[in-house]
Amino acid sequence: MILHYLASMKTREDLRHLLHRIDGSGYKAYKGLQGQYAYDNFTLFIDYVQGDPFASPSRLRLRLRNQFPEWASRNRSREVALRDFLARQFAQSIRRFAKGQRGSGKSGAVFIDQPGQEMLERMAVVLDNDELEVRIQVGLPAFGRRIAGQQAAAILLEELPMIAGHSLFPEVIDEGKLRAHILINEDADALRGQLEGLGLVAFVANGALLPRASGVDPRPLEGGLPFLSPDNMEVEVQLPNRQVRGMGIPKGITLITGGGYHGKSTLLRAIELGIYNHIPGDGRELVVSNPQAVKIRAEDGRFVEKVNISPFINNLPRATDTLRFSTQNASGSTSQAANVMEALEAGARALLIDEDTSATNFMIRDHRMQQLVPKEREPITPFVDKARQLYEELGVSSIIVVGGSGLYFDIADKVLCMLEYEPQDLTERAHEIALQFPQDRQGEGGKGFGGLSQRTPLARSIDARRGGREKVRAFATRSLQFGVEEIGLAAVEQLVDNSQLNAIGDALLYARKYMASRPLAAVLDQVMADIEAGSLDVLSQQKEGHYAVFRKLELAAALNRLRSLRVE
Ligand code: ADP
Ligand code: MG
Repeated sequence: MILHYLASMKTREDLRHLLHRIDGSGYKAYKGLQGQYAYDNFTLFIDYVQGDPFASPSRLRLRLRNQFPEWASRNRSREVALRDFLARQFAQSIRRFAKGQRGSGKSGAVFIDQPGQEMLERMAVVLDNDELEVRIQVGLPAFGRRIAGQQAAAILLEELPMIAGHSLFPEVIDEGKLRAHILINEDADALRGQLEGLGLVAFVANGALLPRASGVDPRPLEGGLPFLSPDNMEVEVQLPNRQVRGMGIPKGITLITGGGYHGKSTLLRAIELGIYNHIPGDGRELVVSNPQAVKIRAEDGRFVEKVNISPFINNLPRATDTLRFSTQNASGSTSQAANVMEALEAGARALLIDEDTSATNFMIRDHRMQQLVPKEREPITPFVDKARQLYEELGVSSIIVVGGSGLYFDIADKVLCMLEYEPQDLTERAHEIALQFPQDRQGEGGKGFGGLSQRTPLARSIDARRGGREKVRAFATRSLQFGVEEIGLAAVEQLVDNSQLNAIGDALLYARKYMASRPLAAVLDQVMADIEAGSLDVLSQQKEGHYAVFRKLELAAALNRLRSLRVE
């Protein structure tokens, strides 16, 4: 049986002949290449051939025996890091050996998913049954619409083996680098895993480098001041491959305060991205946070479908329902309230809020304003009156950046003050001040946190058809084309990668099958469980290379921003 299979498999030479034969023919003749070809040290699969040189490029896979030592993929953390490392090596190798675009359209370009600062599980490189599979795209070359056979031969027969040969085999890999990549990923996972037991929502290692090179460059800032924990917040943690000391942010309510430009938002941003692991050299390798930590911000203009925002918003003008609040155009405060309630619905365990991106009236209401606008005429109960209930009743912690108001001193368990990029623990001082200058304001939080949303999404409202076909496509601007709609995800700040968007788009379609009268949270759990049991491959018919893992929380965020969404 195996012999027969080998005998019937075409070889690289067969591919050479095929390309020679179709040279100069119409582009459609490329379709005849679909199939598999044995090369010296891998098998090339040509799964899908593009319809024309301008279309989305053709999909190819390389499969080969995994020759890396056992330690490199001993557990899940290590395997993910190995795959991430190989995707990066392959990308680098493309830059080195692929001659790039030649001819019309995407002719001659070779693509693999491009990882950034985060080390995500991604489908560009897959390890299964001791075989590595590398999923790439190639623009099969043409001049006009005529097949450029010689150019195709150069890419498929010369460049590809060169690229693979210099990236996928142990003998061409810097073992020290690979080891560092793998061990840091294992340690970061272990550290995140220990947070709960230590009673922490986040951990920031001493020596971590938090600031980024620029607002558009996520690499570390050269010459930035390394992080140093205040003495009394320092925690030491034993990890599989090292010991680390750093600042532990306990559960509860933590304030990050301090003067403008002293590093408050930079610290919060690092915590937001602490749900992911980072590559060696990033500076945030050992900055981790609760895996269900969610950044919350104002997002006026967003769509909202029947969300119970009543814990924060009541008595809107024109008797608008806030138990089932719907709008095509939320205000700053209502959008932020909806973001909180949706995050709780999807299982958030910690909320991360920055005053820079918050609605002021959602965050605070002082006693003077309470005099001018009585409670009966203000729909909003500010977050300052709800944060404690949120923690005490639901166990949901908050980390809040506020430099502009002392109203939060009374409710904070911890007050961190950033001073020239260094955190000081000023909890005692802030509590003294709170006693010395008591507030005249009335608490407005009422009796308990209030009701949570339990919505049941309707499958028929998830429709990505466009011209008869379902079409989902991610844009680098964090937006997702979904049929005739565009889902804007720019305000969903913990999405870091286009491939996450690709996977989320397909996961929305996949989720429909679970939408028969199940609550939204249960639908999401089902989808995530399927991905966990299989892999992201469950989301697609084809072997998709442009997928990266995402959380249930971001899947919910995309669903909640789909303007066609309807719930029962
Ligand atoms: P804040 O939110 O307190 O106003 P930011 O966090 O936005 O301040 O930081 C202000 C500036 O300082 C940014 O340009 C940021 O990159 C830089 N910065 C932050 N932390 C550090 C650090 N540890 N070392 C050097 N520069 C830093
Ligand atoms: Mg700031």
